[in-house]
Amino acid sequence: SAVLQLSQVGKSYNHGLPTQVDVLNGIDLTVKPGEIVALVAPSGAGKSTLLHTAGLLDTPDRGTVRIAGQDLTGKSERRRTAVRRQDVGFVYQFHHLLAEFTALENIVLPQLANGISQAKAEARAQDLLARVGLKDRAGHRPAAMSGGEQQRVAFCRALANGPRLLLADEPTGNLDPGTADQVFAALMELVAATGMAALIATHNLELAQRMDRVVRLEGGQLHAGM
Ligand code: ADP
Ligand code: ADP
Repeated sequence: SAVLQLSQVGKSYNHGLPTQVDVLNGIDLTVKPGEIVALVAPSGAGKSTLLHTAGLLDTPDRGTVRIAGQDLTGKSERRRTAVRRQDVGFVYQFHHLLAEFTALENIVLPQLANGISQAKAEARAQDLLARVGLKDRAGHRPAAMSGGEQQRVAFCRALANGPRLLLADEPTGNLDPGTADQVFAALMELVAATGMAALIATHNLELAQRMDRVVRLEGGQLHAGM
């Protein structure tokens, strides 16, 4: 059964102009547990709109969005937020870690917000940090870490509550090529270890090729391959 299922999803904007732009037009996409799908798109093609619609941050004008079999189209914001917190992890080009908190605390906080005990949250955070090779950085604040380390902590935070779906928008876009490669490998290992589904937007075609499948967003529609 699919973790993410978009059926005939459409989203349009009109920018106050007479002509409407169909940013998303009849999008069908299914991502299964353990599957890592690369999303490539020319700039302005609607990549962010697609990721935010899949992650329940944005509502489609047409079609349905299902996460773990639940149709969340038209459901209350409260219900959508609950599913988002539990089942969806987001990663962006910039880490957005809280500067005043350590790596460990940045991974603990979303778990506390989700009702997990301090002890359990810390144990999980330590485990995640060890998996990405940052066992010895738990007590460091973001400013004391390199860009690649910061981004690996951001992955751990995204996975803190054990989401079924990871949505990533250019997760290595801000890193030099060598670091991007290492950080990408760490992300792939984390995803593989948890069996979660992932949709990862990237401009890096070499990284895209290393995922299970590539979809390209162009003209409001998804096409298979690059
Ligand atoms: P990408 O992430 O691929 O660069 P976006 O999803 O951010 O693209 O945007 C795709 C198109 O939709 C752009 O033309 C953008 O101007 C338009 N767009 C995105 N969000 C809005 C919005 N809230 N209101 C109006 N137009 C928007
Ligand atoms: P909380 O209130 O616990 O911070 P939210 O319901 O606001 O949680 O967000 C749930 C998830 O959605 C979090 O992973 C958060 O990072 C992400 N999120 C919330 N709002 C946005 C946004 N505007 N852009 C990107 N991600 C967001």
